[in-house]
Amino acid sequence: MKKQYLLAPGPTPIPPEVLLTMAEPIVHHRAPVYEKIMQGVREGLKYLFQTKKEVLIFASSGTGAMEGAVTNTLCAGDKALVVEGGKFGERWANICKAYGVKARVYPVEWGRSIDPVSIAQALKEDPSIKAVFTQATETSTGVLYPIKEIAAIVSRHPGTILVVDAISHLGAAELPMDEWKLDIVVAGSQKAIMLPPGLAFAALSDKAWEFVGKSTLPKFYFDFRKELKNLTQNQSAYTPAVSLVMGLAESLKRIQEERLENVFARHAKLAKATREAMLALGLKLYAPQAYSNAVTAVVAPPGVDGQKVVKILRDKHNLTIAGGQDQAKGKIFRIAHLGYVDQFDIILAVAAVEMTLKELGYAVEMGQGVRAAMEVLTEAK
Ligand SMILES: *Cc1c(COP(=O)(O)O)cnc(C)c1O
Repeated sequence: MKKQYLLAPGPTPIPPEVLLTMAEPIVHHRAPVYEKIMQGVREGLKYLFQTKKEVLIFASSGTGAMEGAVTNTLCAGDKALVVEGGKFGERWANICKAYGVKARVYPVEWGRSIDPVSIAQALKEDPSIKAVFTQATETSTGVLYPIKEIAAIVSRHPGTILVVDAISHLGAAELPMDEWKLDIVVAGSQKAIMLPPGLAFAALSDKAWEFVGKSTLPKFYFDFRKELKNLTQNQSAYTPAVSLVMGLAESLKRIQEERLENVFARHAKLAKATREAMLALGLKLYAPQAYSNAVTAVVAPPGVDGQKVVKILRDKHNLTIAGGQDQAKGKIFRIAHLGYVDQFDIILAVAAVEMTLKELGYAVEMGQGVRAAMEVLTEAK
C-alpha cells in the first residue's frame, strides 16, 4: 500500500472540501453565478492580503504575476535593485533582464537575511532606482526577510516602489500590505492558499498604480490595468480558471473562519516544532536566525547527502519534502509546514526523517526529534 504525504513548499496538501468544490460541475464565467463567486473571492483576497486594494487574479503559476509586476510598472532601461539570496531572488533578476530593466543585484549569502540599512544605502547612492524587488520568504533557503523594515525605508522614496514576492509567505506569516506600505504583493495558489498550482495574484498600492500609468514595457495577458477594470465587474479579461476560482472561494472561506492571526500562530508553532525536532537530532538549520514560518531548511549531517534524504523519504516512505537547489544541492533538505498542515503532519514528517537518517547511517536516537516536536506542540502558547 502507498499512502502519500506531501510536505514540500509547493504544491501543498489541499483540504478535501476544496477538492470537492473543484470537482463540481463547471459554471459559465460570463454569468451571474460566477460573478457572485468572484464577489466573495475579491473580499476574501483583500482580507488575506490585508489591503483595501483589489487583488488581481491570473491563470498562471506565481511567476506570471512576478513578470507582470515588472512589465506593468517599469520602462526599458529603468534601474531596479534586486535582493538575491536564493533561487527566487535570481528569478527577479532574470525577469528584469528579459525586459531590459537594469537590475543591480544586492547579493545575500544563501541562508542569511538582509540588513535593511544596506537597502537604504543603495537607494541613497542611486536615487534613480525605480523598484526594489525582494522575496518575503526566500523559499530556497528558508530565510525570512525583514519586509516591514525594508518597506519603511522604500516608502520614504517617492520614486521607488517595493515589490514583494510573497508566494510562499502570504497566508503563513504576517504581511499586512497596507499597514506596512508594500507597493506590490505577489502570491500563488499552491502554497499557503491551499489550492493546486495555476493561479497567481498581485495587489498594488496607489503608488504602484501611478507607476503602471507610466510604464511602457510590453504586456498583453498580464496587463494589470485591463484586469483591474474587469475585476471590478467581478470578471476577468480572458477565460478564468473557473474551477480553481471556485476552489479559491472555499479555501478563502476556511482562512476567514480560522482567522489570519490563528493561521499565522499555527504556522509559527509548526515551524518551531520542526526546528526544535531537527536541533534535537543534532542537526543544524540552514537559516539559523531569520527562519521562516513556511519552510524549514535543514543542513544534512556530515557524510549524508541531502538529496538522498529526499529520495529515500519519497521512494521508500512516500513522503515528499524538497531538497536544496544549486549551491545548496545535496547540502540541505527542506520541510514545509505550509497551508493545510497540522501538528500530526509535523510529527510524521519528523518520524520519517529520523527513520531515513538512521537508514543512511546517521546515529539518531529514535524518537528524540518527535519528542522535541511534541514538547513544542503541547506548549500552552
Ligand atoms: C514557489 C515560489 C515561487 C513559485 O513560482 P511558480 O511560478 O508558482 O513556480 C516564486 N517565489 C517564491 C518565493 C516561491 O516560494
